[in-house]
Amino acid sequence: MFDKVLIANRGEIALRIHRACKEMGISTVAVHSTADADAMHVRLADESVCIGEAPASRSYLNMAALISAATITNADAIHPGYGLLSENAEFAQIVDDHGFVFIGPSADHIRMMGDKITAKDSIKALGVPVVPGSDGAVKTEVDARAVAEQIGYPVLIKATSGGGGRGMKVAQNADEIGLAFTTARAEAKAAFGNEDVYIEKYLGRPRHIEIQILADSHGNVIHLGDRDCSLQRRHQKLLEEAPSPALNAAERAAIGQTVTKAIGKLGYLGAGTLEFLYEDGEFYFIEMNTRVQVEHPVTEAITGIDIVREQIRVAAGMPLAYKQEDVNFSGHAIECRINAENPDTFMPAPGRIGLYHPPGGLGVRVDSAIYAGYTVPSHYDSLISKLIVHGRSRNEALMRLRRALQEYVIEGVETTIPLHVRLTQEHDFVNGDYDIHWLERFVKRVQEKNGA
Ligand code: ADP
Repeated sequence: MFDKVLIANRGEIALRIHRACKEMGISTVAVHSTADADAMHVRLADESVCIGEAPASRSYLNMAALISAATITNADAIHPGYGLLSENAEFAQIVDDHGFVFIGPSADHIRMMGDKITAKDSIKALGVPVVPGSDGAVKTEVDARAVAEQIGYPVLIKATSGGGGRGMKVAQNADEIGLAFTTARAEAKAAFGNEDVYIEKYLGRPRHIEIQILADSHGNVIHLGDRDCSLQRRHQKLLEEAPSPALNAAERAAIGQTVTKAIGKLGYLGAGTLEFLYEDGEFYFIEMNTRVQVEHPVTEAITGIDIVREQIRVAAGMPLAYKQEDVNFSGHAIECRINAENPDTFMPAPGRIGLYHPPGGLGVRVDSAIYAGYTVPSHYDSLISKLIVHGRSRNEALMRLRRALQEYVIEGVETTIPLHVRLTQEHDFVNGDYDIHWLERFVKRVQEKNGA
């Protein structure tokens, strides 16, 4: 096992990784920008290194600075967390080339899943269902029309190197395909420097359901069930739950088995998530994330398995601590992402935190790196806390969530807590009856009511 791990991240996920390391008897090295000198991940780590100025491009994304920090502190391995360099194949390769262990999959697997067409083709070849669509990139409007006719309208045009929902355009019918195709290509070119797009059938009311997998270097692959992440605004997840209220046990077991088999054939290492759209009982793969995800705690709550610990174990060459038959699902978990944002307009609201009182009690977990007197910097993502509740049933989890949200005091900055409070009172949400478009409609209603 490693003696020392460098955590190439910040905020709550840096703290999350630190905690897993400490429980395993591993020393930690925090890295930070000048804006994060007072951050909790820096205070709690065994050692810390300042790696540059506030903008992430000059610190957290500076590969040379990270490698230097690992070298001078004599770390064995680097955990990238999520976001930042976590899905950067070049970084994984450089870490390896410098004799450190990258806590994640191989650079080749990161690269494969980073290109959406390659990812879709590879996963399809492994026997996993994908959204019907074009074979690879579509280069001309004539071809786009032909593909759309063949799969049937409405269709979605997506950027090959897309992310965060950019470069995506819907065409409802043949009149719209020309414009949708050219604007999607132009957007893709501007945002990603690559104009390649592909076409998929547009699903009208799917849910976003993802499967968590873990794989070691001894040929073992297990799945930890599903998460429902349908509650999204502008393709950003706001609240996640496990298990999905839409799936029954047989569907869950079947998709879990399909995915586990596919990942086994791939020879993948570490934690990963296969994201699917789910509609009318069918799963359609859309992409794979090759890292730990923000919403991993809901899975930890219902399985009792520490996903970050397993990531570290398998990176060190150890076998997974669990076989599939050891994975038992218990109860229901919900996570609210609490952002320092105006809850109506979603404008970022950085600033100094005054009074801070996180909720507690049975079945409540708060993953956060903020504290009273902490200043939320303006340079980074606005996620400041994740509130995770667990109950024996979905109903119990919901009651606990309402109670915990009421208890949560964060003064000094605006947060999305009021939005979550409203959400937990919504009939559709309480019934688990929502698709990926539901939250946008809900937010619009709230905005109209509040005159935002
Ligand atoms: P990105 O990497 O840009 O987030 P994804 O492929 O993950 O792109 O898609 C983002 C979101 O767009 C999905 O979570 C879903 O809400 C929606 N989406 C993607 N593909 C389809 C589709 N074929 N039909 C309907 N909605 C889709």
